[in-house]
Amino acid sequence: MGPQVLLLPGAGLVLEQVQLCGQIVVLLVRLAALGAPCPACGRWSEAFHSSYQRSIADLPIADRQVVVQLQVRRFRCLTKACSRQTFAEQVPLLVDRYARRTRRLRSDFEAIGLMLGGRPGSRLSARQKKPTSRMTLLRLIRALPEPPVETPSILGVDEFAFRRGRRYGTILIDGSGHQIVDLLEDPSADALVSWLSEHPGTEVICRDRDGVYARAARRGAPTAMQVVDRWHIVHNLADALERLAVRVLAPLHKQRSADEMSMLDNRRTTAMLSTLSRISNSERTSPHRDPRPAQQRSNNCCNRRPTPPQSHHRSEVR
Ligand SMILES: [Zn+2]
Repeated sequence: MGPQVLLLPGAGLVLEQVQLCGQIVVLLVRLAALGAPCPACGRWSEAFHSSYQRSIADLPIADRQVVVQLQVRRFRCLTKACSRQTFAEQVPLLVDRYARRTRRLRSDFEAIGLMLGGRPGSRLSARQKKPTSRMTLLRLIRALPEPPVETPSILGVDEFAFRRGRRYGTILIDGSGHQIVDLLEDPSADALVSWLSEHPGTEVICRDRDGVYARAARRGAPTAMQVVDRWHIVHNLADALERLAVRVLAPLHKQRSADEMSMLDNRRTTAMLSTLSRISNSERTSPHRDPRPAQQRSNNCCNRRPTPPQSHHRSEVR
């Protein structure tokens, strides 16, 4: 088993050389056929005109990035009335015309982008030695063909934000398979009516509480049964419980506040009485009790600075 196994089998390729440039494995490849058919008229031609090289990214090998250097030949078309005078040979099994990555690498990128999205997919790809940007992954996903839309028997309808607070649409979900069926850029009832008219067969429409979708369902699918989805039932129940709690608990809160204020007043009164009682007892039982009347004691307490001696006292000292 030679290095030829590194190439796609059945593509008619010949591996000329394998080079290691830094951390990148370069495969020098050419086509084995002597000529190629003209893409315009289909006539086989081996009239060599010129050649050039295409650099094509491929799946990594042994944890190293891989680049296929494909030698492409240009041939002359031998049909005089043909619109193409020259044409380049193609390898449709390996790579698309003008593409910079092999089909199998693009398929890998599409799978990563669908599973992880742009930025996380780009980080995983770089870790797996097939670096690419997040925008490339998103562009590959957008280029994928739209899967055919099958009308589900149970259809979920709800509002969807393309840009929250700015642009809204309508999302349609298969209630049985839990898959997104379609996205309508217009959130109006008319858009849903036209979609339901184009996709008949819906038996149950699961919607929100808004009347827009109810009216649209009646117009677009008059025979379908309308039900409210589980989230809105729970939301309704939570709203009702909240209103009930406010109505029932508000008087209880008022009564409780009044009781607490009354209890606080009682505590303050008890504390004041207790303090007065302690002061009264201490005055009655003190051994150094001042025999003067209360008015004099009060005056003495307010003027604690010693009184200067009287003039006749000084004369007595002299
Ligand atoms: Zn031709």
